[in-house]
Amino acid sequence: MSSELFYQPITALAAALAEKKLTAVELTQAVIARTKATEPRIHAFNSHDEADALAQAAASDARRAAGQSLGALDGIPIALKDVIAVRNQPLTASSKMLANFVSPYDAGVTEKLRKAGAVLWGRLNCDEFAMGSSTENSAFGPTSNPWDTTRVPGGSSGGSSAALAAGSAIATLGSDTGGSIRQPAALCGVVGLKPTYGLVSRYGLIAFASSLDQIGPFARTVEDAAIVLGAIAGHDERDSTSFKTEIPDYRAALATNRGPWKLGIPKEYFAEGLDPEIAQAVEQAIAFYKAQGCEIREVSLPHTQYCLDTYYVIATAEASSNLARYDGIRYGHRAAGAKDVVDLYYQSRAEGFGAEVKRRIILGTYVLSSGYYDAYYLRAQKVRTLIRQDFLNAFKEVDALITPTSPVPAFKLGEKADPLALYLCDIYTIGVNLAGLPAISVPCGFTKSGLPIGTQIIGQPFRESSLLAIARAYEQAHSWSTKHPIL
Ligand code: GLN
Repeated sequence: MSSELFYQPITALAAALAEKKLTAVELTQAVIARTKATEPRIHAFNSHDEADALAQAAASDARRAAGQSLGALDGIPIALKDVIAVRNQPLTASSKMLANFVSPYDAGVTEKLRKAGAVLWGRLNCDEFAMGSSTENSAFGPTSNPWDTTRVPGGSSGGSSAALAAGSAIATLGSDTGGSIRQPAALCGVVGLKPTYGLVSRYGLIAFASSLDQIGPFARTVEDAAIVLGAIAGHDERDSTSFKTEIPDYRAALATNRGPWKLGIPKEYFAEGLDPEIAQAVEQAIAFYKAQGCEIREVSLPHTQYCLDTYYVIATAEASSNLARYDGIRYGHRAAGAKDVVDLYYQSRAEGFGAEVKRRIILGTYVLSSGYYDAYYLRAQKVRTLIRQDFLNAFKEVDALITPTSPVPAFKLGEKADPLALYLCDIYTIGVNLAGLPAISVPCGFTKSGLPIGTQIIGQPFRESSLLAIARAYEQAHSWSTKHPIL
């Protein structure tokens, strides 16, 4: 195969492995070498374990030699966001609180990737506890965007998007609570899929906001995303919100699901604040579908203006509850020299959490407190229902919705110092989480200055097959996925 193995999609690598033109050890070595060459400039990883990855790759080669290959992912190096548990590997959530924590068990998705034969490679940087949109909130320093290392890769799964764009993994996993897979995918020029809430197990995912969190893949192509989704989806009794549903062969469904589709354009998503170059690229994508015979309809999601406020009440409330477990006693950072147990809680939490995490815990505790619960939390839950209803109403008329993923391309490291400026980055992605829907970000061009642009396609619950097919139709007619940053 070509020298740039690390930029090949899973489909091509799986074929080369099957034809014995390549071994999993050679592929893993190429990814390790690439990681070493780019990490000083990118810092996508919090940690990695070469010996462990090479041992997994050797086991994959041995299986294949014995005629027992496990399929398309067998021998493919996949790196995971550092909020997803991998047995005997560090698990930090990019927080000082968990800086020395080693996971004693595998997450549900990790088990599934192992069963598919993937080579688990590295723990990827992110915003602390997945709270942020730029990966600048990591306690271990920010990640840089491979397309322009003075810029952010997006967030919170910025290590997942940057590692893939840099060629330091063949696919990655992230988590998406308000946009954390789709927005960094858009900013780094890769595909990012947030599955329907409940499709992928959250067992072993460090919880941020449990009613919104969902794990999903980053990949070079839509077909690769379909392959990874097929491996990680499915019921898990250890996650009480995991759905019992038949998992189709998402990759095979790409061939049979051909449209034409009815596509909705939510008018509220093309309003003030949208970068004109992004608006233009997304309009061209819409024009492509129209030229393919799809029916394009303007739709309205009238409660869109309340998405951000609703999210920051619900997400912070759930975070304040989920993060109560970091008390300096059971695990995580423990302050030295505390006077008594209450002082130990105070000191450990004061030292262990960063500023953004503290801001959210304080806000979340406030909206849940007895005098304010009805005014904020309960009301936000009601508005959430209206937001979901907006989407379900739109889906009575159309198969999917097309929007920009992010209102802005990758911005400069340090540029958005005001938390609200960062919160606004998720204006087009948050509604999807509140409504529990699947959505994908697909590369759809570049700005004049060479920064990637993504378009978001939002699908109906558990209709990932159709969502992926719609995305694939666009991708196949364009060459964005073959473009790579010069590093
Ligand atoms: N940027 C959003 C936040 O800061 C979403 C994060 C996420 O999806 N994990 O909460």
